[in-house]
Amino acid sequence: MIQITNLKKTYGKVNALSGIDLTVNKAELFAYLGPNGAGKTTTIRILTGLTRLSGGTATLGGHDIEKQTLAAKKQFGLVPQHINLDSELTVQENLMVHGRLHHMPRKAIKPRIDELLGYIELTEKRHTPAKKLSGGMKRRVMIARALLHAPQILFLDEPTVGLDAAIRRRLWALIKKIQQDGVTIFLTTHYIEEAEFLAQRVAFIDEGRIIALNTPQNFMDAIGHWAMDRFAGDDMQTDYFGTQEAAKAHAATHQNGFSIRRVNLEDAFLNLTGKKVQ
Ligand code: ATP
Repeated sequence: MIQITNLKKTYGKVNALSGIDLTVNKAELFAYLGPNGAGKTTTIRILTGLTRLSGGTATLGGHDIEKQTLAAKKQFGLVPQHINLDSELTVQENLMVHGRLHHMPRKAIKPRIDELLGYIELTEKRHTPAKKLSGGMKRRVMIARALLHAPQILFLDEPTVGLDAAIRRRLWALIKKIQQDGVTIFLTTHYIEEAEFLAQRVAFIDEGRIIALNTPQNFMDAIGHWAMDRFAGDDMQTDYFGTQEAAKAHAATHQNGFSIRRVNLEDAFLNLTGKKVQ
């Protein structure tokens, strides 16, 4: 559904992307993870036609974003990083304006809005101005807006940034439901547990390159199943073990200041890069 070949982007002397190769399958939930400045937003901006690429190719549903821009743009909906609803307009008006901008027939917009408001469980907020919604509700409306024209692909750029844990989980359930309904989802996130929970495959990107790509489970299995964290001087040291027993046996050789836990995707990323996703 998304095919990227040797994708490059330079901003003056900055190499934002240095040759990305990637294929995302139909109805896959693909997560794109990396630290600040890694090139995540640049990739999404190119794929959604907001920025021109400097080299390589990108196709969406078989349509080249540079050469068949209009056809490629029809393939996706985009939920950008920053809330960009019209705060004075109601939920329904925000959706209506978007439908008209996408040249949807008036008759088709209304039932689609009804359907999507039910889908995101915000029917009762239909006539509420966007400025009166909570952060989580605004995100849900942005997702509904991106789905209005029934795209095949949904780009989610940091969809849960700034939301508390409970609201984030509610959004995860919605994102999962959208994928199960057959939409291909390309997700960028700083919340590594979000990728671990949601994604079928994860690409770790750093300094404009994909440094590893695998399923969350394979990433974690590669380093062990249990981790022991302990303070060593000013730093924290983490050791990995195949079994909880092995981790406990190792812990017995240290007096205190340690904790034993399951390995998570952040361990895999730290192991690969020495950097935290932040
Ligand atoms: P974040 O998680 O902070 O959003 P990111 O992974 O999305 O980071 P990008 O925003 O894609 O990273 O940035 C990749 C690189 O390109 C960075 O070095 C950034 O400074 C640079 N960059 C991005 N946009 C521009 C621009 N318009 N002009 C110049 N440099 C840019």
